[in-house]
Amino acid sequence: MSINLARYSQVIDELAANIKLVAVSKSKPAEDIMALYQAGQRDFGENYVQELVDKYNVLPKDIHWHFIGHLQTNKVKYISAFITLIHGVDTYNLLKEIDKQAKKNDRVIDCLLQVHIAKEETKFGMNEQELSHVISRLEAEPLRNLNIKGLMGIASFTDDIEKVREEFRFLKRFFLEYSQRRIPNVEFSILSMGMSADYKVAVEEGSNMVRIGSLVFGARNVNA
Ligand SMILES: *Cc1c(COP(=O)(O)O)cnc(C)c1O
Repeated sequence: MSINLARYSQVIDELAANIKLVAVSKSKPAEDIMALYQAGQRDFGENYVQELVDKYNVLPKDIHWHFIGHLQTNKVKYISAFITLIHGVDTYNLLKEIDKQAKKNDRVIDCLLQVHIAKEETKFGMNEQELSHVISRLEAEPLRNLNIKGLMGIASFTDDIEKVREEFRFLKRFFLEYSQRRIPNVEFSILSMGMSADYKVAVEEGSNMVRIGSLVFGARNVNA
């Protein structure tokens, strides 16, 4: 177990009370999650559906599970009964499927829209225009079994802090813009940005939800 409880406490102390820490436990065993759970952590993030379901089945039921990966439409049904927040939604089709599965489970599922803020090609997420289209469609055809709670973004993987800061600012700008709008089932309150390497900058730029993995759980040895 490579979990770093001292580092965990330090991060918790550092974050203001209004900033939520999602402990990213992907590729880490259930025992590591239990160790953080015993230290008081309740929000955990995973990015593979099967791994999430396996962990959900064996771990305490008061854990709030966050899906932070790229969710395939045909897999929504496996997590729709229990998921707390889906961070990475980037198409209207996926929203429709989440809404449908939420309805089947007689619940409302909270989602964040993922915006592409990094310069790299490989990152998922919508551009400005796609975001605007999805919001317009939601305005025209509201999906009643979901709540759009805000935005999520992943900054470039670089040591250039000022570049990272710019990308977070860019996301914050959209967040503020859409926070002003009155759209059914769209109430922006969560801005999910910042990981182990850049969460301090993210918080300086207005993040209120950070997703931290390796800093508290230790380095991952698989490429997850
Ligand atoms: C893996 C992952 C994280 C956490 O990354 P660390 O660098 O280990 O903190 C955060 N967000 C997403 C979307 C991830 O896939």
